[in-house]
Amino acid sequence: MNVPRSEPTFRQSVDLMFNRAVALMDLSPGLEEKIRVCNSTYTVRFGVRLRGQICTLTGYRSVHSEHMEPVKGGIRYAPTVNQDEVEALAALMTYKCALVETPFGGSKGGLCIDPRDYEVHELELITRRFTYELAKRDLIHPAQNVPAPDMGTGEREMAWMADQYARMNTTDINARACVTGKPLNSGGIAGRVEATGRGVQYALREFFRHPEDVAVAKLSGRLDGKRVIVQGLGNVGYHAAKFLSEEDGCRITAVIERDGAVFSEAGLDIEALHDWILRHGGVAGFPGAGFTAEGAALLEEDCDILVPAALEGVINLSNAHRIKAPLIIEAANGPITAGADDILRDRGCVIIPDMYANAGGVTVSYFEWVKNLSHIRFGRMQRRQEESRHQLIIDELERLSADSGVGWTLSPDFKTKYLRGADELELVRSGLDDTMRIAYQSMRETWHGREDVTDLRTAAYLVSIGKVASSYRAKGL
Ligand code: GLU
Repeated sequence: MNVPRSEPTFRQSVDLMFNRAVALMDLSPGLEEKIRVCNSTYTVRFGVRLRGQICTLTGYRSVHSEHMEPVKGGIRYAPTVNQDEVEALAALMTYKCALVETPFGGSKGGLCIDPRDYEVHELELITRRFTYELAKRDLIHPAQNVPAPDMGTGEREMAWMADQYARMNTTDINARACVTGKPLNSGGIAGRVEATGRGVQYALREFFRHPEDVAVAKLSGRLDGKRVIVQGLGNVGYHAAKFLSEEDGCRITAVIERDGAVFSEAGLDIEALHDWILRHGGVAGFPGAGFTAEGAALLEEDCDILVPAALEGVINLSNAHRIKAPLIIEAANGPITAGADDILRDRGCVIIPDMYANAGGVTVSYFEWVKNLSHIRFGRMQRRQEESRHQLIIDELERLSADSGVGWTLSPDFKTKYLRGADELELVRSGLDDTMRIAYQSMRETWHGREDVTDLRTAAYLVSIGKVASSYRAKGL
């Protein structure tokens, strides 16, 4: 990637965006500074014996804000992980959690490894050792710091972490709540794997419910039929592209991956493409689509919606002025640098910002954490309540029918369906949908309600910084 030298670092980029919003607020300089800075970043270098050699690995866990505890945020495995990056990501977690009202502070972690270089048993050894290093300093803890998956990690790593923590804390009845994003059979929750992509879909649906907002992006009509380019078909990009194409009638006209990009005006079959990537390690050769090895160039292609769903900084000073998409939804964290953001805003591009667009993951993490702490199968309470309410209605209907002499009865099939109540996945999806609608509306009120706010990102920062500030004011520092 050709990033000009004047581009700030990721951390500086987040701070620049924060500063732009905070300039419109009436915060004391002291409180402003307190919210902006990262509280602490722990760096650990630990050794593991792999293939007969001692390897020293470097990892981080950064805590941005403890105005609410536990602090929350994923752990990333990538060779490019560094302190600046985890601090930027931790800050974004603070603002994201505040915006969608999950009661957490912000944190993020990372380990400098390329997971593709290791066997599964080696990754387990590394993960358990990293967990040990963090947990002994309470940087993994159900009440203080709760990691989750991020790039390069998933359910498998979370299961190892939870198990390692439980071994170190055998009397902690809440041990399972020490990480989220676990597999279902280890205390996870239905719908967590798809949650971030699902949140992107719900965010776009909510955006298209407001014709005035759609018009600001110089688009019209509904989500149905929109031409979408997706960058990155990892967990987030894959689920977003799949749901948008299969459920909302969008056409995914291009997918950009590590080895290049595939494109088709008719729309790509995301399930088939995902399967192809798993089998061939890249998009090249995918049947029925065009291919270019210059993948990044497709970010600049004509489309209705651009979905950067991979790394930070992919839209920067070197390519921002060539981006044609009128609407960008940041499925990744920080895909647009502060400088690129200025350029795109000036050109009238509407950006649905990361702290809102990809908040589906942490929202469902919150449901999982609550489920773990309550020690009850999620939805069980609600189901009981619903069942008794529905039973009353059924009894009343049958009584009325008997009294009136009509003599009809309700079919057993209707009764079972009516009494079934919502299952866990339905509850998770409806909770996520509600969250995404409410958060959008809070950003939107600020966006349209203030003359000095002209974009959704500034609106999102204003809402979230306002919440963090009132929490500090209420509780003290
Ligand atoms: N890593 C995800 C994010 O960036 C999820 C964090 C979480 O669930 O705690 O939002």
